[in-house]
Amino acid sequence: MQRLHAVVAGAGIGGLTAALALHRRGWHVTVCERAPEPPTTGAGIGLAPNALRALDAIGVDAARAAGSAVPATMGVRRADGRWLTRAETSYMAARYGTPPIAVPRPAFTAALAAALPAEALRYGTTVTGVDDATGRPTVRTAEGPALQADLVVAADGIHSPLRRAHFPAHPGLHYLGETAWRTLVDAPDLRIPSMSETWGRGTRFGVTPLADGRYYLYATATAPAGTRSADPRAELRHRFGAWHDPIPALLDRVDRFDPADVLQNDLYDLAAPLPRLHHGRIAWLGDAAHAMAPNLGQGGCQAIEDAVVLAHLLPSGGAADPGGGTAAVPAALAAYTTARRERTDAVRRRARRVGRLGALRHPLAAAARDLAVRATPARLALRGMDDLFNGFRLPTP
Ligand SMILES: Cc1cc2nc3c(=O)[nH]c(=O)nc-3n(C[C@H](O)[C@H](O)[C@H](O)COP(=O)(O)OP(=O)(O)OC[C@H]3O[C@@H](n4cnc5c(N)ncnc54)[C@H](O)[C@@H]3O)c2cc1C
Repeated sequence: MQRLHAVVAGAGIGGLTAALALHRRGWHVTVCERAPEPPTTGAGIGLAPNALRALDAIGVDAARAAGSAVPATMGVRRADGRWLTRAETSYMAARYGTPPIAVPRPAFTAALAAALPAEALRYGTTVTGVDDATGRPTVRTAEGPALQADLVVAADGIHSPLRRAHFPAHPGLHYLGETAWRTLVDAPDLRIPSMSETWGRGTRFGVTPLADGRYYLYATATAPAGTRSADPRAELRHRFGAWHDPIPALLDRVDRFDPADVLQNDLYDLAAPLPRLHHGRIAWLGDAAHAMAPNLGQGGCQAIEDAVVLAHLLPSGGAADPGGGTAAVPAALAAYTTARRERTDAVRRRARRVGRLGALRHPLAAAARDLAVRATPARLALRGMDDLFNGFRLPTP
């Protein structure tokens, strides 16, 4: 008897975590990624306690694998530098078992990929469709022969071609009215002790220290979809160059970059939840399943939760598994939808609400927002995150 075979479409955080979780459950996995090679540049990503707990369940220590710094404090500031709220990460560590961490995204995905057998990874392989009308699905790719699978994991990101093909009536994406820039800068001399997000009027700027003297910077601004400037570095300086320290000093470093090192994405979320997160033997996860606004820093974290829960609910992939095997896959996918759909959609809706607050442009509205944040003790505000940060559970299969 052969091991069960999973084909994963997409080698982002969700796809690689799913591949690794399934590999560790004895599955034979093939990851098809349309990009010709793994990313070497890019942004950072924040991993909240819920995601770290999920990774721990499959034996992944993200901080050790990708390197991370734990800043002393994290909070929200105004453009003049005044803190609106600030919490100690030691308090978060005590409350949630671990503080949130931030890692360079390429290092994290490289660590996940390195834990898979080399032959599992097929870069430069675009999934063009899945035929699942009868029995085991067949995965078609643009570059090579079709693949037979017991399971297909659709981790093909926010624009998920597989979502569009299998949920043709779904309304698709909703533009959130903002564009975002992300980059990594080298600035070991600056020694910034805090992770911060600074709120302006319709604009935000985030600074996250990483382990190796680099900083993950992100910025957002309200703008019509598709707005692009000739040089994103000049655009960032124009919008944020007069904000509080250390933002101007960090932007000086960005100026030394190739403009291509500054990523820009317009922000979208899913206009409505999918009716279910599976169809036949295909399971959707991450942005393909429930793309959300980045405001809670949970898109990747929920992708990780999805992947770990999915692998946990599936039968073991080993040939000797009694009573499991390929026949158990459809019921496991129905259980996956039950376990994940409600939580991920609640996070999607909440992220959209938080985003609306952050994007307020009217001076009075923004001032009232800032006042309300200042008036709420940081520890009380943090408790509002308990259901997110403490909310990861492995369901009973
Ligand atoms: C500005 C910003 C900041 C963010 N910050 C955070 C944060 O701090 N914390 C957090 O948890 N989340 C954050 N997110 C969200 C996070 O980036 C996403 O939720 C996460 O990357 C989703 O992972 P994924 O694997 O589902 O999709 P992706 O990372 O998009 O991966 C999808 C992969 O599928 C591949 N693909 C697509 N189509 C095909 C095909 N047909 N065949 C083969 N391969 C295909 C793509 O090339 C890609 O590699 C942020 C997002 C933005 C925009």
